[in-house]
Amino acid sequence: MPSYITKSRVLSGLRCPKRLWLQTFQRGLAEESATSQLTIAAGIELGKLSRLNYPGGILIGHVAQPEQAVLETSLLLANKNSAPLFEAAFLHDDTLVRTDILVPTHGGWRMVEVKSSGSVKDHHLLDCAVQLLVLENAGMPVQEICVAHVDTGFEYAGTGNYHGLIVEEDVTDKVRALLPDMPAWLAAHRDILAKPMSIVRMGSQCTNPECQFLAHCEKDLPEYPVSILPNARKILDELHDAGIEDVRDIPAGMLQNERHIMVWQATKGNQPFVSPQLKQELAKLPYPRFYLDFETINLAIPRWKGTRPHKQLPFQWSCHVERADRSLEHREFLDTSGNAPMRAFAESLIAALKSDGPIIVYGIFESTVLNQLIRFCPDLEAQLQGIIDRLVDLLPWLRSYYYHPAMKGAWSIKAVLPTVAPHLDYSQLEDVQNGTLAQLAYLEITDPKIVPAIRNQKIRNLLKYCERDTQAMVEVVRFFA
Ligand code: SF4
Repeated sequence: MPSYITKSRVLSGLRCPKRLWLQTFQRGLAEESATSQLTIAAGIELGKLSRLNYPGGILIGHVAQPEQAVLETSLLLANKNSAPLFEAAFLHDDTLVRTDILVPTHGGWRMVEVKSSGSVKDHHLLDCAVQLLVLENAGMPVQEICVAHVDTGFEYAGTGNYHGLIVEEDVTDKVRALLPDMPAWLAAHRDILAKPMSIVRMGSQCTNPECQFLAHCEKDLPEYPVSILPNARKILDELHDAGIEDVRDIPAGMLQNERHIMVWQATKGNQPFVSPQLKQELAKLPYPRFYLDFETINLAIPRWKGTRPHKQLPFQWSCHVERADRSLEHREFLDTSGNAPMRAFAESLIAALKSDGPIIVYGIFESTVLNQLIRFCPDLEAQLQGIIDRLVDLLPWLRSYYYHPAMKGAWSIKAVLPTVAPHLDYSQLEDVQNGTLAQLAYLEITDPKIVPAIRNQKIRNLLKYCERDTQAMVEVVRFFA
């Protein structure tokens, strides 16, 4: 099959020439993240749903045979087809595009690009511009261009009716404004591929959205790249201009920000920094102490009555209860029913946290989720508010009073834990090692088609993962107390 320029590759090349080169010549080095798996799955489901708005539409398949898809599209158009087209394929020079939805209008076509996000993003416009260029060069009169995205205000009534979930936003003028730049972009694309791989410095283009070659590129970084300095965009430019790539090579006096200095001193001296204030703050926490963590699911297409797209809905919690004699008790909840988990989650949580004592969390996530939970269980507002009022967040204390060189600029519980309790490393966990993988596991265990043995294993993995999060907090507090 010839190597075509596709719209996703043009976008890759615009973001990072190295990425485009690797995608074309070294695909085997790519590692698809759990986040992108979720995004792709949501995009496929939304694509199907959006087609329901165009009854009588014709789906052009041949996913793996683009030439066939181009041929079928041109035959349909030659025969004066007047039905909407799904996944129509067009080729101009060496650039191939597939258009999510094409709708006949009076004297032309409306092009609709479906996205699972809650709004139109800049890269959606670029995506549409590549398509527009190819379609117009293939002789298609495109009169209107829309991005169809999720309306985050949509509330699902639970009846199977998703009318109103997807809204179409007219982006014709914005996309047409990009068109004059397209020939230069395509020429740059060809140029990148005609030469050896470009040397590109890692930066914001690597993580937003996450690049599938991240792990590969990180291998070339120094042990402590200057990019680990938190919120350091301005100073990073200065460091790069001065040819400084490793934190340990930064000269004294160059950093002004307190946290940057903390990272630099600890890394250069290869010694952790611990402020005595951390111990003082932790000592004030009375017993019993409740260490709490949630797992949530974020669905682009709401599944349960009263829920909205892209809201974090809790399905699992773990809690370690520590008493004054240092004894520990573990409590947990995981909804495996596939039904709306919010009510059972709230009731089980209230029962587990009945007695007095601080509820220790890591970050503001649990507080945000509890506040949202009140909307689903207004009759439990007083009890849920009581839990919110007892929350104690460890993260700000750790951020201000602790840094270990091995944390490499991150203060997440997953970054801190190996520095205080290496035997509890998350990488030892099977299958579920982060929140996004927990979401994927939850979707699998609530899928009626899953094999029971696999389901049981995934349930065990989910329980172990969430338990590890609260156990980690216990270890962190004990280490510094
Ligand atoms: S990780 Fe960053 S530098 Fe490497 S290919 Fe991806 S975007 Fe480019």
